Amino acid sequence: MAPRRLGVVQAAVYAAEAEALEAWGQRWARLRQAQAYADGLVGREWFGARWPQFGHCHVERRGSGARYSTAAAVDGDGPEPIGAIILLAPGHLTQAVLLHELAHVLAGPGEGHSAGFLAVQLELLRNEMGFGAYADYRAALGERPELAGLIDLRGTVTSAL
Ligand SMILES: [Zn+2]
Repeated sequence: MAPRRLGVVQAAVYAAEAEALEAWGQRWARLRQAQAYADGLVGREWFGARWPQFGHCHVERRGSGARYSTAAAVDGDGPEPIGAIILLAPGHLTQAVLLHELAHVLAGPGEGHSAGFLAVQLELLRNEMGFGAYADYRAALGERPELAGLIDLRGTVTSAL
């Protein structure tokens, strides 16, 4: 995938998030609250059943000049990551950003913001932020022609209902 194309997709995903997820999810004042949430998430039964090898999600703040949050996978001996280090930019201490960055690690390297990433992100949103957030975000993704063909949004909505 050419960088130009990836940029268009990334911008469309960010725009859909800004439009749909503003009203949903947790916001934290302190890093330790984000870490407590991440610990709880990794310990949940559904999460452990879905990603059994994944044991820890470590959350840190990025420096005050950083504009974007990011994440790195912690690798074990197998092909799947056993953990993640998530770096949240100033103003990004939110559940939506944390789950976005975690989805990058769980989807695997090379996915960018494409179909595999969106499928994992939507799975995390549905389980963690509830069906309202999931449905609003899915609808916002479906309205963006830049994302057409990346994921069968209409079909997956139908099967999820
Ligand atoms: Zn991203």
